[in-house]
Amino acid sequence: MPSEIDSLLRSPKAYQVARKVLDAMESHRVWPTALNFELWLHYVAAKDSEVAAKIDSVLQSGGTFTDQLGEQIAAQHLPAAKLSGEILDAGKSLSEELDSVSRAIESARETSEAYGQQLATASESLVDQDADAVRAMVETLSVATRKVREENQALESQLADTTEELTRLRESLAQVRRDAMTDGLTNLSNRKAFDESLERACAEAEASGQPLTLAVVDIDHFKIFNDTWGHQTGDQVIRYVASVIGRIADAPRFAARYGGEEFAVIFPGETPETAVTAMEAARAEISSRILKRRSTNEDLGAITISSGIAQRRPGEAPATLIESADRALYASKHAGRNRTSVAEHGSPPRGASRAA
Ligand code: C2E
Repeated sequence: MPSEIDSLLRSPKAYQVARKVLDAMESHRVWPTALNFELWLHYVAAKDSEVAAKIDSVLQSGGTFTDQLGEQIAAQHLPAAKLSGEILDAGKSLSEELDSVSRAIESARETSEAYGQQLATASESLVDQDADAVRAMVETLSVATRKVREENQALESQLADTTEELTRLRESLAQVRRDAMTDGLTNLSNRKAFDESLERACAEAEASGQPLTLAVVDIDHFKIFNDTWGHQTGDQVIRYVASVIGRIADAPRFAARYGGEEFAVIFPGETPETAVTAMEAARAEISSRILKRRSTNEDLGAITISSGIAQRRPGEAPATLIESADRALYASKHAGRNRTSVAEHGSPPRGASRAA
């Protein structure tokens, strides 16, 4: 949650704001769950936030705010807050665990230091001692040895617990990392993961001399579609297109949601020819499917996509490759949409397919 909102909830106006949020929720028939409250708090108290804009667009288009929609908005727009909470929790457990290991190691070190001193004293005292004195000495050493053994056992058991806890923490940090790289609506990789992946793919292509091709994809007339059918149906269409694009992008290919209704696919080791085949297969599948509006079962009409494809040139930076693919996408849009175009460096992009 942004810190201004957090501060507001601890200010003298807190209850006034909370009442306003609940009133707004009640007037829109929204259940007062904790998640809904957080989202509507943004709507009431952080008008400039992405969450407020999303709720506003739902209300403006006459849509209904449902719990499911709330979860989708939260997944898309609140993950940073959720993740930072999870990271803080994981970090706190990790540092508590390390503190307790250091304490155990320190205590074991002190015990074995004392043991060493007792041994040294004993060996000095043994010189010229009678049998009783030796017996007393052996007794002292045996007590000290038992203490060291007990300390070592305690340390071993604590280290076993710690190893288990560290494994658990490693898994939860890996999950946090996966969440931070995944788009909440579509489950494809997100923009951050795409940027990292393209950067890596470009470096590998530069080092190996292998080809590297990039496709950028945009859903045609998505804004009109969203305005006509509403934001919830718009999100379903984004999910559908994402699922088709995900299917043509088995590893080492890499598909991501690049922005609102834009996607990107990286084709390591491939030339535009095979990338065109893949994008054309996705285009054909999407344009031939009749999607239904889930609430009314009405046909949603044809959904089409346009793509732009570019092959990386030696020495080319990721940003330049994206620009080339974007130019090819623009050419697809300009030529009538529902097609795939390939960037030809130095000349206008060539259309690889015609509208169906
Ligand atoms: P989802 O609703 O979570 O569905 C996930 C997958 O379950 C679908 O993948 C499909 O394989 C299967 N599935 C779900 N409902 C049906 C059904 O009524 N009949 C059949 N035969 N299979 C079903 P798919 O097709 O790749 O779709 C991915 C996502 O795209 C869906 O997620 C949904 O969000 C959206 N979507 C797909 N088709 C439609 C549609 O006709 N209308 C709407 N509004 N959304 C759709």
